[in-house]
Amino acid sequence: MNLILLGPPGAGKGTQAKRITETHGFPQISTGDILREALKNGTEMGLKAKSFMDQGKLVPDEVVIGIIDDRLRQGDCKSGLILDGFPRNVAQAEALGKLLDRLGKQIDFVIDLSVEEGELVQRICGRRTCKKCGMGYHISFTPPVADGICDKCGGELSQRSDDNEETVKKRFSVYKEQSEQLGAFYSTTGRYRKLNGMADINEVYRSIEEIIGAA
Ligand code: ADP
Ligand code: AMP
Repeated sequence: MNLILLGPPGAGKGTQAKRITETHGFPQISTGDILREALKNGTEMGLKAKSFMDQGKLVPDEVVIGIIDDRLRQGDCKSGLILDGFPRNVAQAEALGKLLDRLGKQIDFVIDLSVEEGELVQRICGRRTCKKCGMGYHISFTPPVADGICDKCGGELSQRSDDNEETVKKRFSVYKEQSEQLGAFYSTTGRYRKLNGMADINEVYRSIEEIIGAA
């Protein structure tokens, strides 16, 4: 099962991808996570991406397409994968199509989570992530049992440096200009499904299971 999760920043793509991985084992491939890891490790790619990420702009297509090209060839993608945060524009979607063709793969479903902007700001500003295992939390909606500590592994929770109101505004405008149109791009494939991402996390997940279970 090969899935693409679409939706604005904060829509719940990472949250749902982790749930799907837990249940089905398909790896979550998040270009944002890969870029943050590269930055943490001080690689050339990470340093190149930093200024774009800090400003809420898209990292150049050749960088993220290169990431996906490498990642899709890895053995754990054989039985399925979940793309989270890629593609982000039509050029990336077209490049993905070519990569998949070359690998003899195809996308089974494109799941697009829609959430109102006011809710997205709240979600993003309250988002926290475990430094150790990557588990996601929200300070009000899904808080950890102990403040700042991951329930799963005891790791320290941190806030992303681009999860501030100013950068969020830029990320929303980039989404509207470049990413929102991917809904129209994929809607002709018969594999596009739009979901109400405003619903409770469990409810969104149930809807995803209905979609992928029907395949
Ligand atoms: P994305 O990967 O699309 O940027 P995340 O999955 O990281 O978004 O979710 C953003 C924040 O919103 C996180 O703090 C997460 O816990 C919270 N969240 C995700 N889905 C929901 C939901 N359905 N209802 C309330 N909060 C949610
Ligand atoms: P995310 O973790 O998906 O919210 O992404 C965080 C940041 O990483 C974005 O604001 C971009 O700067 C960069 N990024 C992640 N994925 C992509 C992509 N597919 N194309 C370009 N930039 C990306």
